Amino acid sequence: MVVHIAQLTFRRTIAQTYLQRYGTIGKGAGRPSTSKFSISFNRVSDDIRYDEKNHLLVYISDNKKRRCAGEGGSTSARTMCKKCDVGLCLDCNYIFHTKTK
Ligand SMILES: [Zn+2]
Ligand SMILES: [Zn+2]
Repeated sequence: MVVHIAQLTFRRTIAQTYLQRYGTIGKGAGRPSTSKFSISFNRVSDDIRYDEKNHLLVYISDNKKRRCAGEGGSTSARTMCKKCDVGLCLDCNYIFHTKTK
């Protein structure tokens, strides 16, 4: 459980960082790198995503369902990949972790 809590804190820190960094975009801060702003469900780096090591699906508790990272992220998943830290249903697990190109 210690790990779980640490992970939660970690996630919250990330969210706060994003908020601090991007929350005020549009105020004319003059940052030229807005093209980098493509945060979506697909933020797992390919190196991790396709390394085929320890991608364990774990169950998410019911009140914390996540969007599935596969299939356009439209369905909610009851499981997530612990390593990628994304919601992922059983159907999409294989596709998500398999390089198609
Ligand atoms: Zn994974
Ligand atoms: Zn799915």
